[in-house]
Amino acid sequence: APAAATNEIKGKAIPGIQNIVAVASGKGGVGKSTVTANLAVTLSKMGFKVGVLDADIYGPSIPIMFDVANERPLSVTIDGKSKMKPVENYGIKILSIGFFTKPDQAVIWRGPMAAKALNQMIFDAAWGELDFLLLDLPPGTGDIHLSLMQAMPITGAVIVSTPQNVALADAKKGVAMFQQDTINVPVLGIIENMAYFTPAELPENKYYIFGKEGAKNLAEDLKVPFLGEIPIVQSIREAGDVGRPAALQDATPIEKAFENLTKEVV
Ligand code: ADP
Repeated sequence: APAAATNEIKGKAIPGIQNIVAVASGKGGVGKSTVTANLAVTLSKMGFKVGVLDADIYGPSIPIMFDVANERPLSVTIDGKSKMKPVENYGIKILSIGFFTKPDQAVIWRGPMAAKALNQMIFDAAWGELDFLLLDLPPGTGDIHLSLMQAMPITGAVIVSTPQNVALADAKKGVAMFQQDTINVPVLGIIENMAYFTPAELPENKYYIFGKEGAKNLAEDLKVPFLGEIPIVQSIREAGDVGRPAALQDATPIEKAFENLTKEVV
């Protein structure tokens, strides 16, 4: 299991939350939220108490992936203080920046504003006891990331990339961001998503649509762990769209792939 964050600038620890794992990608659309959602349900199936905080201000998709887009967190009073109660589905507690924006409205969150909203969702929320809080970060490596990383006691970060060069270049920047002196968040490793495609009628064939083993090679170059690969599977996409993460379904190759991946993270 990841060691506790010790860096003093990381701010206060959060009572009840054992590990905060940031899921990041340099580039958008590589499957960061999909991987976050499936890691969450897999951790939960393994017996851990799990929360997801969707901090992707540019496209908060976690509410859709968990079929809670029409719900809103209630407010509860704990020790005389009003706290936000995460929405829950499939045993996962969820807060998202998407709960505070109107659908179809493009909201431009400035760094400090986003950091403030996210701070409240971490420190003023009734998460209860959690083994893992997964933080779905926005893509990129901007100011928002810096303020978030500095405000929160992050245990470690996982980077999601496809094997494609443009995605890898951005993933490399992501790793560098976490490793820079003022941030200093341990990189738990790189996940290769959309690694290959296997058509149903040719089960022995692997087509490396975005290139072969790019993220694996990048992990080796950067001397960070390679956590594993997830192929392109239509049902992963469909499951995301209907709000029921694919790894929830038992005894499938997808469940197995996410289970192997998750074992590398914990
Ligand atoms: P990001 O969070 O990086 O922007 P998403 O998780 O939203 O990316 O994924 C982008 C799109 O790709 C979504 O439609 C999602 O369902 C799909 N997708 C992600 N990973 C896979 C995969 N392994 N197989 C098939 N579709 C995927």
